[in-house]
Amino acid sequence: MKWVYLFSKENTEGNKEMKNLLGGKGANLAEMSSLGLNVPPGFTVTTEACIDFQKAGNQISDSIKQQVQEALKEVEKVTGKVFGDSKNPLLFSVRSGARVSMPGMMDTVLNLGMNDETVEGMSELTGDARFSWDSYRRFIQMYANVVMGFNHSLLEATLEDLKDARGVDEDTELTAEDLKDLVTVYKQIILEESGRSFPTDPMDQLWQAIGAVFRSWTNPRAIKYRDINGIDHNWGTAVNVQTMVFGNMGDDCATGVCFTRDPSTGDKRFFGEYLINAQGEDVVAGIRTPAPINDESKNDSNRNLKTLKEAMGETFDELTEVYQKLEAHYKDMQDIEFTIEKGNLFILQTRNGKRTASAAIKIASDLVGEGILSKEEAILKIEPELLNQLLHPRLDPKADKKVVAKGLPASPGAGAGEIAFSSELAISLAESGKKVLLVRQETSPEDIGGMNAARGILTARGGMTSHAAVVARGMGKPCVAGCSDLVINYSAKTVSVNGKTFKEGDHLTIDGASGEVFEGLVPTIDAEISKEFANFMSWADEYRTLKVRTNADNPEDSEVANNFGAEGIGLCRTEHMFFEAERILAVREMIFAEDVMSREKALSKLLPFQKKDFLGIFKAMDGKPVNIRLLDPPLHEFLPHSEQEKNELAEYLGIDIREVEDRAEKLQEFNPMLGHRGCRLGVTYPEIYKMQVRAIMEAAVESSESNITVMPEIMIPLVALKGELAILKEDALEVIKAVFKEKGKEIKYKIGTMIELPRAAITAGEIAKEAEFFSFGTNDLTQTTFGLSRDDAGKFLPEYVGRGLMPNDPFVSLDQSGVGFLVEHAVKEGKKTNANMHMGICGEHGGEPSSIDFCHRAGLDYVSCSPYRVPIARLAAAQAALNNK
Ligand code: ADP
Ligand code: MG
Ligand code: MG
Repeated sequence: MKWVYLFSKENTEGNKEMKNLLGGKGANLAEMSSLGLNVPPGFTVTTEACIDFQKAGNQISDSIKQQVQEALKEVEKVTGKVFGDSKNPLLFSVRSGARVSMPGMMDTVLNLGMNDETVEGMSELTGDARFSWDSYRRFIQMYANVVMGFNHSLLEATLEDLKDARGVDEDTELTAEDLKDLVTVYKQIILEESGRSFPTDPMDQLWQAIGAVFRSWTNPRAIKYRDINGIDHNWGTAVNVQTMVFGNMGDDCATGVCFTRDPSTGDKRFFGEYLINAQGEDVVAGIRTPAPINDESKNDSNRNLKTLKEAMGETFDELTEVYQKLEAHYKDMQDIEFTIEKGNLFILQTRNGKRTASAAIKIASDLVGEGILSKEEAILKIEPELLNQLLHPRLDPKADKKVVAKGLPASPGAGAGEIAFSSELAISLAESGKKVLLVRQETSPEDIGGMNAARGILTARGGMTSHAAVVARGMGKPCVAGCSDLVINYSAKTVSVNGKTFKEGDHLTIDGASGEVFEGLVPTIDAEISKEFANFMSWADEYRTLKVRTNADNPEDSEVANNFGAEGIGLCRTEHMFFEAERILAVREMIFAEDVMSREKALSKLLPFQKKDFLGIFKAMDGKPVNIRLLDPPLHEFLPHSEQEKNELAEYLGIDIREVEDRAEKLQEFNPMLGHRGCRLGVTYPEIYKMQVRAIMEAAVESSESNITVMPEIMIPLVALKGELAILKEDALEVIKAVFKEKGKEIKYKIGTMIELPRAAITAGEIAKEAEFFSFGTNDLTQTTFGLSRDDAGKFLPEYVGRGLMPNDPFVSLDQSGVGFLVEHAVKEGKKTNANMHMGICGEHGGEPSSIDFCHRAGLDYVSCSPYRVPIARLAAAQAALNNK
């Protein structure tokens, strides 16, 4: 087993492709060494060694130790220095590096190998006692923190005290004697606090430090970071042991960080900060105000400081050459760490720099323009989810914020406003011009109005596919769902969270992209669609073969989706149209009807409303297909709940309120999701679907008369049997024929079904005989395949995912081997029966990149997703096409 890989100009054993084994940092240190850059030599202990260490109960095995010692000898050879030698000591930095960078999660120890003898050796060798003691005291500080686990402030406070006592502001003003005293005090404190003296044996220091880096993989901070970012806990971290170079040897020394392009705008300008006579993370830690490396990097806080270009012109030129070389080599914007020791430039790290979404698009586009990237490569470089940032208003990154709780990042964007605990209040506040945040235990279809009026939605219960989450995404509203720390008291009109209580009218802000909840109003900045973004998306469109449709229930959402490039509607849910104030009474009248005649009477009141909705949608989607699903949810969802609603209905129907209650009770079901819903309603109450088909087709014919190109698709939900579809299709055809006759005009249309029950998928070959299209309703198909209810899954699903029983929440990312198997089977069987069968997906998965990749491979014609995810789906579809070429 090879546990250790060398990197030096003379001998490098790794390269940039070996991130899984050497970590990102280690792989790039090797790569840069091979490129001939000035990288201090060293070696990387692999991520596999980290896993071995953990398995062995936090022990470094003998074989790892042996390979480390051999590598150490090699480094001594190339540097001509000796580890632990009192005359010519070799000092190390011990750094951590996982496959993907986890900024600030794990720590670095610099100047390892220092002790009372080597510090003297260093003083003599450099003729600079101040530098030598400064390095020693830094080493003790970092070692105490990272390896011995002491709080940072323990020794930092002593340093501050000493600076006060000497009347100086900056540590560079302390003398060698000061620093020597400081080391003595540090060692004393450590002895008192730990009962152990500070380790003086360099080899002992090294083993301890390597072990500490390995252990840091499982510190709570790192675990949390991986949870949030979906990083695998089993990867482990590598350890980089590297010869020290010194930016703290005087005024011809410095340390700094630079980006090859501007990480917030993507503009092509070299950009960075540095500090003279400093070491390590002084630049990032804000100990002193760092200076700009060039004029382009100046801002209000550093304008008066000397740039690196002015201070060390030659080294700056050298750095310019290096950054250009690295960017061209990695074909991406780089984030580079460097140190200058006595005028010599050393490169300590390079990585693809983190950037905002708009910068990512700009950089990828520019790199294509500069001939560094091909269009294909540029498309594959952008994480589709990143586009979220561009489509929703977001929190001003510069604003001060205080996190009070964290829930699920259900729908991205920033939402801030006054707390409203009811939809009614949300609506009335919004009408009076206020910003509202709707805070609910959970939401239900009745809350649509309140959700629509609110700037954001925060719920205590429910998962990523809870009502609140799904609807919010559809609306493009920010939403944090399932924030279980919230204790909502509706009667007291308060929400308590982690010891704080907020009243109705108090302000909260949510970040739907991170799931964070903040106190007060955090300022936001608007999203804008740049020319670059539009252009980039047009490249994606060149490569994808999947069409992208949207899920939209009204003309406004259709408009939004059109602007984002939707190519049709994949799912128009008719029931959302039933909740508006003027209609709900007629809907309830229909539900309460005890015979066909009274049901038809109620339905005839609804017909004009539905028709008007469809006219609006057809107009918005002129020239594009519109897939309309006939009524799907169980009827009880439309029942009156409050006393007032019940009274209103009793009055409207001219019956007693007790009768209202009686009939409502009769409609109750044990398992509404598996109950009297979908096409089962159509089979038992054919008049409902007939009314809907009539509304669709009258609207379609009338639209076509006003020169709108309509392509209606009528979709029948929850079919399990070919017979169900056959009956309902016959009913529909009868109505359609009648409408054509009345209007004296015919148009093209399709009738098809949703595949959302396992039986439908299994017998798809049969069902296909009656259908012109299949649309996979993967939300219900997931529920029915697993036999679990997504509304109740919150109680156990997170634990299942946490324990690795499921790789992902199957409602977020399609379960490819189970649910996906059914989809593939249905596609195959459906096409056998009808080679022209049109196939799409309309579940929430239609906007999720890995599920889109699956849809591409399964041979679907289109995906459909909420309006705000359309660009994400377009990009993911292009990546799927490129990745499966
Ligand atoms: P992080 O992963 O947090 O960026 P690093 O391992 O890059 O941590 O270390 C942080 C800083 O420590 C570097 O930016 C650099 O300034 C300093 N450093 C690391 N290794 C060396 C070294 N061999 N010589 C001098 N400074 C170093
Ligand atoms: Mg760090
Ligand atoms: Mg670093």
